[in-house]
Amino acid sequence: MNHHPAEQVAASLAAMRSRIDAVERPWTHPVDITAVTKAFDPSVIAAATTAGCSAVGENYAQDLLSKRSAIEELTTRPRVDFIGHLQSNKVRQIADLVDRWCTVDRPSIAKEIAKRAPGADVLIQVNATGEDSKSGCVPDDVAGLLDRCTERGLNVLGLMTIGPTDQPPEAAAPGFRIVRELVDDLGLSVCSMGMTQDVDVAVACGSTNVRVGSALFGARPGAVTHSPVHHDEDAPG
Ligand SMILES: *Cc1c(COP(=O)(O)O)cnc(C)c1O
Repeated sequence: MNHHPAEQVAASLAAMRSRIDAVERPWTHPVDITAVTKAFDPSVIAAATTAGCSAVGENYAQDLLSKRSAIEELTTRPRVDFIGHLQSNKVRQIADLVDRWCTVDRPSIAKEIAKRAPGADVLIQVNATGEDSKSGCVPDDVAGLLDRCTERGLNVLGLMTIGPTDQPPEAAAPGFRIVRELVDDLGLSVCSMGMTQDVDVAVACGSTNVRVGSALFGARPGAVTHSPVHHDEDAPG
């Protein structure tokens, strides 16, 4: 698919909203949709915004920077969620483009965001599955990291997690339940979980924000994976 006209994205967005509405759940909170534009052409951002998406998600600093003009030329700017693994040396470059930092998982990155984007809205990423390859802090460390973020003046809205990507969608439920419980225990509001393959499970477990790309734009070009293995060095926090 080379073109993603707004009408086509709007139809996919409507289908996604119906899919979410069809999930039985005890909650009444709305579920906000972040349109994940990573690896798609910059024009997808305008198509998504015209179609009614109020937030877009990007994973890579370089990719986001290449879309700067596509974002800045919009009359109604979507909220820009940074949803990829965060490296301290990249924060400064994208600080003026990012509205919500969704993957804070260690004190050093909280420190850098507080320095480059004082008072920014952030989510703490939780690794609720224990997979080594995955970013995120372990559930036991979330409360401590929340305190570090707050001490630095960051506005912690909630938590974010990624379900296992190599298993059937149902396998995500135990981790999602752990994260939802943490959101409640800590008195937070945002619970960002669910991607195209496990949206239904995430919403049933209490997600308030799903992040979907392929459901809206079709198959993603190239071989971008959900949780790239990363090896980077950070200065101590
Ligand atoms: C790519 C990605 C998504 C969207 O994945 P789809 O399968 O295209 O819906 C959501 N969240 C994160 C963190 C991602 O990296």
